[in-house]
Amino acid sequence: MHYVSTRATSASAARNPQLFSDILLGGLAPDGGLYLPADYPQVTGAELDAWRKLSYAELAYEILRKFATDIPDADLKALTARTYTPEVYRNARAGESAADITPLRTLEQGEGGTLVLQALSNGPTLAFKDMAMQLLGNLFEYALAKNNEELNIFGATSGDTGSAAEYAMRGKRGVRVFMLSPHKKMSAFQTAQMFSLQDPNIFNIAVEGVFDDCQDLVKAVSNDLSFKARHKIGTVNSINWARVVAQVVYYFRGYLAATTSNEQKVSFTVPSGNFGNICAGHIARMMGLPIDKLVVATNENDVLDEFFRTGVYRVRKSAETFHTSSPSMDISKASNFERFVYELVGRDPERTHALFRKVELEGGFDLSGALGSDGDEFKDVAKYGFLSGRSTHADRLATIRDVADDYGITIDTHTADGIKVAREHMTPGVTMIVLETALAAKFNETILEALGTDAERPAGFENIEALPQRFVVMPPDVARMKAYIAEHTGL
Ligand SMILES: *Cc1c(COP(=O)(O)O)cnc(C)c1O
Repeated sequence: MHYVSTRATSASAARNPQLFSDILLGGLAPDGGLYLPADYPQVTGAELDAWRKLSYAELAYEILRKFATDIPDADLKALTARTYTPEVYRNARAGESAADITPLRTLEQGEGGTLVLQALSNGPTLAFKDMAMQLLGNLFEYALAKNNEELNIFGATSGDTGSAAEYAMRGKRGVRVFMLSPHKKMSAFQTAQMFSLQDPNIFNIAVEGVFDDCQDLVKAVSNDLSFKARHKIGTVNSINWARVVAQVVYYFRGYLAATTSNEQKVSFTVPSGNFGNICAGHIARMMGLPIDKLVVATNENDVLDEFFRTGVYRVRKSAETFHTSSPSMDISKASNFERFVYELVGRDPERTHALFRKVELEGGFDLSGALGSDGDEFKDVAKYGFLSGRSTHADRLATIRDVADDYGITIDTHTADGIKVAREHMTPGVTMIVLETALAAKFNETILEALGTDAERPAGFENIEALPQRFVVMPPDVARMKAYIAEHTGL
């Protein structure tokens, strides 16, 4: 299995194709593109039948070995077994089994179709990012030890990504995490999740500024290539290929758990921001998993909904990005979207590059086929099963109330966006699986607004805000940031 860049040109082709281990620790390809498999491995009906009996960890092994062909099978088996255990996914609620890792719960079964929730948020930080990040932690430790290397992960977070990365990397040999967050801007719960970690390889840096200041600092430090190389700086953002591929597994798991024969199809609705999660669904579908529709659900930041309705991709400026009650979907552009556009334009790297150069220069492109547009490939989107919808704060409140009244469970705000949009795309005879991307406890302010009561907290999180916190406060100053990193990497 080899990987190519979505922007590979003849000049960069010499550095392509790559193996899984070559791209594991990196982000963008050197040409600025994203990595994808040169061909998607195909899954047969016989394999699907055999996989129905597997545990989540065994299924993850079977799928990952198709992509990580340069990691010995025995090592991969041990890594997946260690990652997907009920001890890690222990925040299962009443009516769910932790052993299922991503348990399914049927909400509605009627003439209008069957609506099912797949819980992806029972891991250590109560959000779906654990599903991939926990594997990444184990893969990184394995790969670094093999080559006797070190890695210093440097990133910025406004919430879910930072805590998922820290919980995945805590205590891992060869890895340090330097995570910037805007000082006093995260919720008390999210702050406590990150800052209560006492592991010596985790460094929380509260920046006196907003999230954009944190991102600017990451960019400034990463643009200093000699500093970056000397201090072995890397990232774990959502474009990392290993994160995407780890997410492919739960689409298979959801399908196999919701069906009894490979003749049946299911659809998925995915609360989306950077298009990482649903991109994994697209890959599962390309591998031959019988997925009918892939429904992109956005909040008021509807860049993706606009594209899937009109064929126009129009990124927003930071000032035009709304701060919503489903904050992990508050994006101005979708960093994984290039992976799908590459497919849509017939895997043409030159055209992909030109379209995304246009995004940088002019803020977007138009594939609607209208006069003066950049192409007409929007007509082919339906072939890939994509549909979309949008949800607002009022929709979230109404959906959280509805689901609590009708089914007696409290869903989080992102999942509420998913259910609202899923209901607009139900088909009789096709099970609709909504991916639950976080637990309600993480976004309690909105739960309180919707229901008038607090969201239930999983065991162990009751007093998290009272735990001692370990962090430093710093002004948004590049030189000070570099000095801090240098002091703590000792390189
Ligand atoms: C990150 C996140 C999303 C968005 O996922 P993408 O892969 O960026 O599309 C949705 N919901 C929650 C809770 C998240 O943390």
